Amino acid sequence: MAACIFCKIIKGEIPSMKLFESERTFAFLDIQPLSRGHSLIIPKHHGAKLHDIPDDQLHEILPVAKKIASAVGCEDYNILQNNGRIAHQVVDHVHFHMIPKPNEKEGLGIGWPAE
Ligand code: C5P
Repeated sequence: MAACIFCKIIKGEIPSMKLFESERTFAFLDIQPLSRGHSLIIPKHHGAKLHDIPDDQLHEILPVAKKIASAVGCEDYNILQNNGRIAHQVVDHVHFHMIPKPNEKEGLGIGWPAE
């Protein structure tokens, strides 16, 4: 969808800190992280809410979230996916947050930009 900010990120029209890309899936660092390593994993297929996305476009989402959590050495994290304004969705392209929870291992991140 031409006006969608996440579709523009997928196409490279808006820069992002890309973490993963495949035929169906894209992942990048959240621009306003709630914690170090806060990432967004998104289907390339445009859809505002989870029910707008065909099931086969969702198969890689959690495996990619796991890969990213492992890559940053984070064992404690939240996976979050908001649908609709009342549920705090701001960007109308389905996205899954992977939000590391700070613990005694914080700072172990491998390859993350310096803070
Ligand atoms: O789930 P929700 O829609 O509230 O979250 C949208 C997320 O997209 C926010 O965490 C925001 O920081 C992120 N975002 C981003 N890059 C943009 C626009 C929004 O990482 N260019």
